[in-house]
Amino acid sequence: MNTKPGKDQAPPVTVNCPTCSAPVTWDERSPWRPFCSRRCQLIDLDEWLTDDDEEPGVKQE
Ligand SMILES: [Zn+2]
Repeated sequence: MNTKPGKDQAPPVTVNCPTCSAPVTWDERSPWRPFCSRRCQLIDLDEWLTDDDEEPGVKQE
């Protein structure tokens, strides 16, 4: 029997934070993935909402 090390254990998956490009380990230790932190998640969400929210020249009454 030849058991290769690391066959049952997947290597850690790392992604880059969309906001600041910091490496983020994709597991339960990173609750904000794919963002590196709550702050980066909020920044991204805020930009998204701001982009969609303010449309000049459009009034809703
Ligand atoms: Zn980040």
